[in-house]
Amino acid sequence: MVGEEDGQGGAGSRGRRNFNGDEMIEYINQTILNAWSMCPERVRRRWIEGEIIPPGIAARIGSGVHKGAEVNHLAKIISGKDEPPDVIQDAARDGYMKSIQEGVFFAPDEAASARKQLAEGVDTTVTLAGLYGVDIAPKIQPALVEKTITMAVDILDIPFIGTVDVYTVDKWMPDLKTAARSWPESRAHSSFQMTLYNELIAHETGEYPDKLSIEVLVKTKQPKTQSIETNRKPSDFEVLVKRAQLMLKMVNAGIFPPADPSHWSCAPAYCGYYWTCPYIPAHKKILPKRSQ
Ligand code: SF4
Repeated sequence: MVGEEDGQGGAGSRGRRNFNGDEMIEYINQTILNAWSMCPERVRRRWIEGEIIPPGIAARIGSGVHKGAEVNHLAKIISGKDEPPDVIQDAARDGYMKSIQEGVFFAPDEAASARKQLAEGVDTTVTLAGLYGVDIAPKIQPALVEKTITMAVDILDIPFIGTVDVYTVDKWMPDLKTAARSWPESRAHSSFQMTLYNELIAHETGEYPDKLSIEVLVKTKQPKTQSIETNRKPSDFEVLVKRAQLMLKMVNAGIFPPADPSHWSCAPAYCGYYWTCPYIPAHKKILPKRSQ
């Protein structure tokens, strides 16, 4: 669950065919729910057409830090002790390097700075993994690590799925994120992911978590951690199921509205489909001139 954004990949779904012979999704995860709330057309491109665009650098840094935390959690579930800082940071660096080999999305106007951003990403990953090791890791005694949970719901014909990075022996689900700036608290309280994962934990263990929180590693000049505790009620999940039901009806009917063009994510820097999107007028698709 680490990452500023999950990019357009994530644990997504593979296509299956509906009664029209069109491809549709096989299961619902938080990446699809988030993408659908921003732009159903983007879901069509990624999950129906299978046009995969790699995540941006922020998500790749998140993947690296996630790897460092995962290595620590897997060791600690056996030893009861945190790994030394250099072990966590080395694992994070390796995770970052591996993830960028799978591709990184840069907008056309970022081409000149891509190499520099990739190099700086190593330092950011190592710094944030170190911060995780000092500020967050000591508070976590894992009970579940990297647990993929699938949950069917009566009124949906495909299941929900999610991979919980860590759940503690004292029933705390800390969700680790990396970000360029502090989160507004409202973002944690409305997160689809927390609503879904709260329910997945109850499905897996028979009990709801006692505590849910987003633990943000903020990569400001002086890096810091931010902990936002949140909670969920049964009606939060009921509403999520309604959203998923409506999404599936629209997918089955082949209805994929575009994003609000004024939404921050409907821009070349945030949407890899921008340049080929039929909902962006041609005069806005002029590529920036390359510097000599
Ligand atoms: S460019 Fe805008 S409308 Fe088109 S896929 Fe991207 S977010 Fe959606």
